[in-house]
Amino acid sequence: MTNTTQKKLRIGVLALQGDFEAHLKMLEKLGVEGIAVRLPRHLTDLDGIILPGGESTAIGKLMVLYGLQEPLQQMIRAGFPVWGTCAGLILLASETDNALAGQPLLASMHIRVRRNTFGSQRESFETDLSVPALGEAAFHAFFIRGPSVEWVGPEVEALATLDDGTIVAVREGHLLGTAFHPEVVQANGQRDLRFHQYFLRIVQSVRG
Ligand code: GLN
Repeated sequence: MTNTTQKKLRIGVLALQGDFEAHLKMLEKLGVEGIAVRLPRHLTDLDGIILPGGESTAIGKLMVLYGLQEPLQQMIRAGFPVWGTCAGLILLASETDNALAGQPLLASMHIRVRRNTFGSQRESFETDLSVPALGEAAFHAFFIRGPSVEWVGPEVEALATLDDGTIVAVREGHLLGTAFHPEVVQANGQRDLRFHQYFLRIVQSVRG
């Protein structure tokens, strides 16, 4: 089947707190239907979901309050495609070095992350990343009090590292994680849509 005859992809963006509007804008640019997910009923008929950056503690608490934690965990176990960016990556990780006690998480991807790794001066920074999975051109990445990936399981592929070897983008089958913010508009006003396109390819491959 060609794209024109296929049903339009429906991608959810967890819209409890954080940078969800920017992801919805990216999806709109890509001609995909973006759904703001706030309640369990919004999960119906989605092809994938993006967990945005923000504050993982706040997002986690709201996720429990609105009854989204369990359905999401079940969907992930069943192979549902999920992309966590920054705080979203913390939610996805099976282990967190420095989670707050009782911080609600999805704990699904076989990685260990460290919150707020790039302390003091480097709390927020931008850098050009080499991401071979996206092609040759560097990806200009915005790190905003982001986590680092400290350990990856045998099934996890590191998609990008900083110059010092710190892993900042990972994939484990239908799960994708980035420690930075690919939804942020570049200084020249352009949007680099390649990470979102990469996630859509994962979604397509799962949908078949
Ligand atoms: N520091 C935040 C947290 O630990 C993540 C920052 C972000 O998503 N930009 O949740």
